[in-house]
Amino acid sequence: MNQKFGPEFPADEVVTATGGKLLQGEAACRLRGVSTDSRQLVQGNLYIPLKGDRFDGHDFLGEAIARGAGGLLMDAHHAGMLETVSKIPGSCPVIVVEDTLRALGDLARFWRRRSGQPVIAITGSSGKTTTKEMTAAVLEQTFSVLKTEGNLNNLIGLPLTLLRLERSHDLAIVELGTNARGEIKRLTEIAEPDIGLVTNIGPAHLEGLKTLENIREEKGDLYGTMSRSGVAVFNADDEAMAPLRRLWTGRTVTYGVISQADLTASDIAKEGVAGQSFRLNCGPDSVSVRLSASGMHNIYNALAAAALSRASGLGIDKISQGLRNFRPVTARFEIHCLPNGAFLVDDTYNANPASVREALKTIQTLKGSSRSVAILGDMLELGPSAEQLHEAVGLEAAATDVGRLYLKGPLSRSTAAGAAKGGLPGERIRSFENADEIVDPILSFVEQGDWILVKGSRRMKMEEIVKKILDRT
Ligand code: ATP
Ligand code: MG
Repeated sequence: MNQKFGPEFPADEVVTATGGKLLQGEAACRLRGVSTDSRQLVQGNLYIPLKGDRFDGHDFLGEAIARGAGGLLMDAHHAGMLETVSKIPGSCPVIVVEDTLRALGDLARFWRRRSGQPVIAITGSSGKTTTKEMTAAVLEQTFSVLKTEGNLNNLIGLPLTLLRLERSHDLAIVELGTNARGEIKRLTEIAEPDIGLVTNIGPAHLEGLKTLENIREEKGDLYGTMSRSGVAVFNADDEAMAPLRRLWTGRTVTYGVISQADLTASDIAKEGVAGQSFRLNCGPDSVSVRLSASGMHNIYNALAAAALSRASGLGIDKISQGLRNFRPVTARFEIHCLPNGAFLVDDTYNANPASVREALKTIQTLKGSSRSVAILGDMLELGPSAEQLHEAVGLEAAATDVGRLYLKGPLSRSTAAGAAKGGLPGERIRSFENADEIVDPILSFVEQGDWILVKGSRRMKMEEIVKKILDRT
């Protein structure tokens, strides 16, 4: 990752921001932007070497200098540190820190504070990216918005996003993701959000977080760490959120479909193949909203975006207009119409138990009296309860009456067992390894009006199946 037009700091400010020590070079020497990837470093950048599972950025210090690094951060515990420094040209500022990843976060917070623009932070088990994109579609009508690109929501992606803040921006919308306890707290400390939202709490990333209670505590750290002068946005329909709400003493904006809330949705109706409309109610006012995204989960995401926009001072007419501009991101419930009139839903971007359940339910609603095929890849990172969670998804698939269930991955045995338990006949369930095995049977099964869902964890590469089906039709 690199920053072409990032912030400018004199070396001594980097020292102040990171609590590091200037080992060599001029304190006044100016550094322009930061880079954590020596291959993409731009002249003048501060190079921040990070340690990953496979690589250590410290191994590329020489390359960073050769590409014109304006200065370097270094881990104080890096083996042979002093010897390495002795080989670096004396004019190049070298700042030694306890931990380069932490320093990256500290620097981002320093820059975020100095820039002073409001920051909106979104975390939760699912719907973060969609809500972020919907919120951006609304706010971009009025403001110059900096947002997290794609899914860069971790301890590297968030700081690099904040370090892109420029004077021309009015506000930032950032996504916070977590795999391990403590990350949301740290990310919130870096972003210092003025407005914060936990979309929902469900079983995603269980591998690192183990239990649902841990997930609640982890996500809840957003509200727990935010300044009380900020605004907390709450999903009033998610029961898991109630304890977090009781702890918050600052201003709130709430949304929901079932519960009483500041913003609610009513008159939800299907519109065409991939759209829906609803009335957005806010106190005595109400507007009609058209959304190019299907499924109840997207009503929640739209409400969340409306609540965040409301907290940013926008009126509901503007919110309605902005949501109309939103377009779903590739491979997130992307609907393709096949030549024979069947629909192929590409939801291959990722999967966890809650999102698969939502997708199955959405397909059930969309198909009406037609038939459906679900092609599901394993959901990864679920820890010891993985088999149980796959079985539950199988049960859900049976409950939504899928016509055919195709399963990929070692955990598919549990999904199949769940589906069988749910009463789906064995001849409608099939495990497979290679897409070529299933494309023909599927294409000869589906007719006009039928629906095919393809979904699985990122690493299951389910998009290859979508491609094969599209290539063949
Ligand atoms: P990640 O943890 O991978 O960053 P995310 O939280 O950013 O995920 P999105 O990328 O917005 O989530 O959506 C991923 C999938 O989750 C969607 O394709 C959809 O199936 C499902 N999903 C989206 N919003 C919700 C929601 N509000 N409730 C349940 N499931 C949802
Ligand atoms: Mg995301």
